[in-house]
Amino acid sequence: MVSMPAPPSSASAATPLDFEPVTDVGREAMAAILADPARTLLAVDFDGTLAPIIADPDQARADPDAVHALARLGGVLGNIAVVTGRPVATALRLGGFGGVAGLESMIILGQYGVERWDAATGETVEPPPPSGIVGFEAALPATLDAAGLGGVRMEHKGRAVVIHTRGLADAAGAFERLRDPLSGLAAEHGLVAEPGKLVWEVRGNGTDKGDAMRGLVEETGARQVIFAGDDLGDLPAYDVVDELRTGSLCGLLVCSASTEQDALANRSDLVLDGTGDVAAWLSWLAAQLGA
Ligand SMILES: [Mg+2]
Repeated sequence: MVSMPAPPSSASAATPLDFEPVTDVGREAMAAILADPARTLLAVDFDGTLAPIIADPDQARADPDAVHALARLGGVLGNIAVVTGRPVATALRLGGFGGVAGLESMIILGQYGVERWDAATGETVEPPPPSGIVGFEAALPATLDAAGLGGVRMEHKGRAVVIHTRGLADAAGAFERLRDPLSGLAAEHGLVAEPGKLVWEVRGNGTDKGDAMRGLVEETGARQVIFAGDDLGDLPAYDVVDELRTGSLCGLLVCSASTEQDALANRSDLVLDGTGDVAAWLSWLAAQLGA
C-alpha cells in the first residue's frame, strides 16, 4: 500500500459554510450523508472534476489533494467510484488510484460504464469494442481532411475515438464544423458522436453515465448518493440521481463549474469553482466525517 502525502494546508482552508448546498434537497442529502456515511455512495467524474482540463489529455492527472481526500473518505463512506469516459487503464494511470491506502474498495467505471476495475481484485473487465469502430477509424482521416481539419488531435481509446479541437486557432469554429460530418460518419458505422468541451467522442450507442450510476446504486444498496461532474456527458447521471431522489434515495449533485460548460450548474445542489475547489470540498467532507 502506498501512503498518500499530507495535503497542503490550503486544501482544508475552507469553512463549512463555503460548501453549503444551495437547494433544499441538497441540504437534506448532506445532512443524511453526514448522519449515515456508511450507506453513502460517492461517484465522481474524472476529467474536469478530479483532473484539470489541459491541452494534452494524455497528461491530465488527478489533483493530488483530491486523491488524498478520496483516500480519507474511503475509510468512512460506503463506496467510492470514479465514473468516466476514459478507459479504466487511463484513469488508473492519470489518477494514481491503484494501491492507495483508503481506496481498497474503489470502483472505476471506464468508457461510460462499459469497462470496470475493482481495487479489491485489481482486475479490469472489458468487453470487445463495438464492431463499427474499426471502419469508422479507417474512414475518419478523409472526413477530417474534407473539413479542412486533417491535423486535428485524435485520441484512440479502443472502444471510442475522441477528436479534440482544443489548441486550434479557431477551436470553437472547428468543433462546430465537425458536428455534421462526424455525426454522419458515426451513424454510418452504428456509432454516435457525443459533444464535450471542444471534443467530439465517437462511441457505441447504449451506455451512458446514467446507466452506470443506476447500476452502482442498485449494487451498493446506497441510501445516499453524491455525484460530481462537469460536462454534458454527466447529464445522464444527473437525470438518474434526480429520478432516484423522487423516491427514498437522498442525492447530492455537485458541479465542477467552468466557463466552457454551464449546462450542469443550474441543476446542481452545489456548484464548485473547478477542480481545485472540488479537492477542497472533498477534504472538507472528509474532515466533517472525522476522516
Ligand atoms: Mg468531465
